[in-house]
Amino acid sequence: MDDIDLATERNEIFISAAVQAVLGRLSGPPSSGVCRSCSEPIEPQRLKLAPSTCLCSGCAVEAELNQQRTRRCGMR
Ligand SMILES: [Zn+2]
Repeated sequence: MDDIDLATERNEIFISAAVQAVLGRLSGPPSSGVCRSCSEPIEPQRLKLAPSTCLCSGCAVEAELNQQRTRRCGMR
């Protein structure tokens, strides 16, 4: 049935739009490949997963922890 094909196609468009939205949110300007925090080169593997990241994995973990701490304090 054409209807089912059309629905599948629409669904695929919807999914790809959602993926684009997520990627768009993650990606700002492309990364320079150097950590903004410690000026060390960012791991190529990390850049592949997050092309716009501006922190190396070590600093990203630290930043994440800081963010969590800030959030917890903000709740009070
Ligand atoms: Zn770093």
